[in-house]
Amino acid sequence: MTKKIAVLPGDGIGTEIVAEAIKVLDFINSDMALDLEFEYGLIGGAAYDEYATPFPEQSLALAKAADAVILGAVGGYKWEALDISVRPEKGLLGLRSELQLFANLRPAILYPQLADASTLKPEVVAGLDIMIVRELTGGIYFGQPRGIRVLDNGERQGYNTLVYSESEIRRIAHSAFQIAQKRSRRLCSVDKANVLECTELWRQVMIETGKQYPDVELSHMYVDNAAMQLVRAPKQFDVMVTTNMFGDILSDTAAMLTGSIGMLPSASLDANNKGMYEPIHGSAPDIAGKGIANPLATILSAAMMLRYTFDCSDAAERIEAAVNCALDANNRTADIYSTGMQKVSTVQMGDAVISALRGN
Ligand code: NAD
Repeated sequence: MTKKIAVLPGDGIGTEIVAEAIKVLDFINSDMALDLEFEYGLIGGAAYDEYATPFPEQSLALAKAADAVILGAVGGYKWEALDISVRPEKGLLGLRSELQLFANLRPAILYPQLADASTLKPEVVAGLDIMIVRELTGGIYFGQPRGIRVLDNGERQGYNTLVYSESEIRRIAHSAFQIAQKRSRRLCSVDKANVLECTELWRQVMIETGKQYPDVELSHMYVDNAAMQLVRAPKQFDVMVTTNMFGDILSDTAAMLTGSIGMLPSASLDANNKGMYEPIHGSAPDIAGKGIANPLATILSAAMMLRYTFDCSDAAERIEAAVNCALDANNRTADIYSTGMQKVSTVQMGDAVISALRGN
């Protein structure tokens, strides 16, 4: 059956890195007869220039009709002065909420060849491979009531609400358990159940849902300890699942363990594993148009798409192995370059991945 992919390159380096990811997908598509079909649309600043909105109807329709979305990045100097309602980022946020992408998957992988890029000691991080599953559409970032009010004594008071319904917790729990099943079958749920009733419920629902996944070992950790353990001994984790705000903070911490923003992919999934796949970095306007951006985060996002939306783990593994080979052959874009390596352009890095794919 045809697998429809909406391709939204966006702005800045978005177009350059997405071109390389599609080049890799094109190769694997014909090599493994995957029946992938691509259709392109505009989002962010590029869409604003064409349609006076960063989130045009056509792009939403395209994304809704597709099985998966590949997105580059949005934003840039050119659109910074626009009213907030039409800034490029609105396109991205609109897409996430329209598609109800509640499960955000952020792997933190450190390729052994890049162990020196981390600020942590190589022995602490070499071979790191963690998956953080963050709840993306609920919790304190969306809870009502919220605001800043003036009290009777004239003092201002800011307030937000941490709220999760049982069904919201259950659906992210299912996603996380199923992801753990595709990896090493260990899941650590991160909460603050000793202080926050809302996450006491989180823990209860995780335990209840876990009964349906007896093959996955579930553990629990308070968020303060999890933050400490991520920096102290990150390799103890495999899959972590947590709330929107805790996940926001922990996934950035985990990303920094790897020290290379151009290498990290991400996925955001709905209840049926339809997903949007994008690198974690932005549109990098400082290097856009120079042909030096690292396309590997986007290529690895495409591999995640094959694994999580299309259940083609063998194709995903081939791409991931090819990225490894390209690094083994000393190919480095400027952001991960070190002395003695071969400095390559965006296109050359894409070519190196394809030539590794040809070889295995
Ligand atoms: P950024 O991630 O775009 O760039 C941060 C630094 O990392 C820059 O020096 C950049 O050159 C470098 N970098 C990023 N990706 C790289 C890659 N693939 N290869 C090599 N170097 C890379 O973050 P920023 O500078 O804070 O934001 C720039 C623009 O991107 C802003 O408009 C921001 O709003 C937007 N943004 C978009 C997204 C998204 O689309 N998901 C995420 C973050 C920021």
